Amino acid sequence: MKTAFSRDRYEFTKRAHLAAQQQFYPRMFPHGVDFEDVTQTAHDLEYAIDCQLAVTPPDLTFRAPIRISVQERFRKPEDMRYGDVTITEWNLATQRPLELHKLGAQLFMYGFYDDHRDQIVFATAIDVLRMQWMLCRGEIEYSRHSRIDQHFIGLPFKRLKDLGASLFTHDGRICQLCGGTAADAAIEYRGRIDGWVHYGCAEERAA
Ligand SMILES: [Zn+2]
Repeated sequence: MKTAFSRDRYEFTKRAHLAAQQQFYPRMFPHGVDFEDVTQTAHDLEYAIDCQLAVTPPDLTFRAPIRISVQERFRKPEDMRYGDVTITEWNLATQRPLELHKLGAQLFMYGFYDDHRDQIVFATAIDVLRMQWMLCRGEIEYSRHSRIDQHFIGLPFKRLKDLGASLFTHDGRICQLCGGTAADAAIEYRGRIDGWVHYGCAEERAA
């Protein structure tokens, strides 16, 4: 049973999932990747697996693709300011475990989706075993949160990256004023209309 279910949330996730298939996964696996949707199946509900990737490796002498299971989570661009990767932990209403205890996917794909522009602005693929390993051994700090009847934890993205748990990152943030990228200078989200803007460019415009 999903709590705090909303039609909007469902539609947002569905659009983000489709955008990720075009904008994220092909960058991660440029030799080819196909998708098998397993949402709402036992895989999803019991083991927290959203989709199965069928990846074509560079060595084309292999006779079949390599399969990788993925759990996806999408947030809105403005949530990037928290700098963390959140994982649901416990459902208070049903007293049932959530993702943290159920994750059976190999990758946790965590992305920020701009619904307005239909763009995956930033996304990372987290090595689930590495993340579980660090949690089990107390090697990573995290914050605790709750929303309505769900408890969740937040793992600092920078720490996950430093510890090698972030296997692939795509940063598609483009400055709406100069067309430069987030790699050029620090960039911030100015809402749906202005999108991402470099601090420097924003100051220039204001002057
Ligand atoms: Zn700029």
